Amino acid sequence: MAAQDNGVRTMILEGKTALVTGASRGIGAAIAVGLAKQGADVAITDLASEADALAKVQAEIEAAGRTCYNHDLDVTSKVRIEQIFAAVTEAAGGIDILVNNAGILVAKPLEEVDEKLWDAHFDVNGKGILLCTNAILPQMRARKAGRIINIASIAGRQGSPTQGHYAATKATAITLTRVYAQEVGMDGITVNAICPGIILTEMGKTNLGSQEAIDHWSTVASLKRLGDPVDVVGPTVFFASDLSDFVTGQALNVCGGIYFH
Ligand code: NAP
Repeated sequence: MAAQDNGVRTMILEGKTALVTGASRGIGAAIAVGLAKQGADVAITDLASEADALAKVQAEIEAAGRTCYNHDLDVTSKVRIEQIFAAVTEAAGGIDILVNNAGILVAKPLEEVDEKLWDAHFDVNGKGILLCTNAILPQMRARKAGRIINIASIAGRQGSPTQGHYAATKATAITLTRVYAQEVGMDGITVNAICPGIILTEMGKTNLGSQEAIDHWSTVASLKRLGDPVDVVGPTVFFASDLSDFVTGQALNVCGGIYFH
């Protein structure tokens, strides 16, 4: 995707810097590389245990000709978030796009969900968005511009058995998106969510559990297939770019026609 301007073709995100959480694999890695292919420099972050995988994503971003900043970052740590966001801001001159992608899912019926599991899901999938967004907003407000994209889930619109606690965190992500949009819009910042359906990542495959389940849900989907992480890239680029200047507080299903509300 390139914009035409007086005969000079420019990448749609050229001159922008993005930061993606949980970017070592799956949807986060695809988004990080996809943003780089559209011209953005990208800060990739994930847990310290994912250093090797992060290095591979860094190599892909650099192969696309973009600058990559690579930091370990646990999105439940306010201190670490502030440290890393400051380091990237200083190195890059600012962060224009934040993608809150990090997430966890350990499936269990609600009756078996203990406080520890409940808190772990809300810490990463809910509090992580709050902490990262609050850390980025001062600089975005000062520049009167910014793009925040939260990776929620269709689970946040309708829970399913064994995903009640996870679905509750994703409903939280959608609500945070709507409220932040109203609270920061006056400063030219948009906040939108993407609700993936079933994407065949480590999380997606673990959750489906079998080839039979993959086949079943592929049949249910209008497009007769489940998602690849790269399917989430286009909608993210849209929300990250000027193409979506007048779109905020929205949650877009990216699910191959598996869910319609
Ligand atoms: P994934 O393959 O499990 O990747 C998630 C990444 O987030 C992993 O690298 C994980 O690291 C990291 N992470 C976990 N806890 C973290 C923390 N505290 N701080 C920073 N990073 C952390 O999952 P995915 O399928 O790509 O999912 C990405 C996002 O899309 C998640 O928010 C997920 O809920 C959402 N989503 C996925 C699907 C799907 O079908 N795959 C559908 C709807 C929504 P570790 O592996 O080391 O924990």
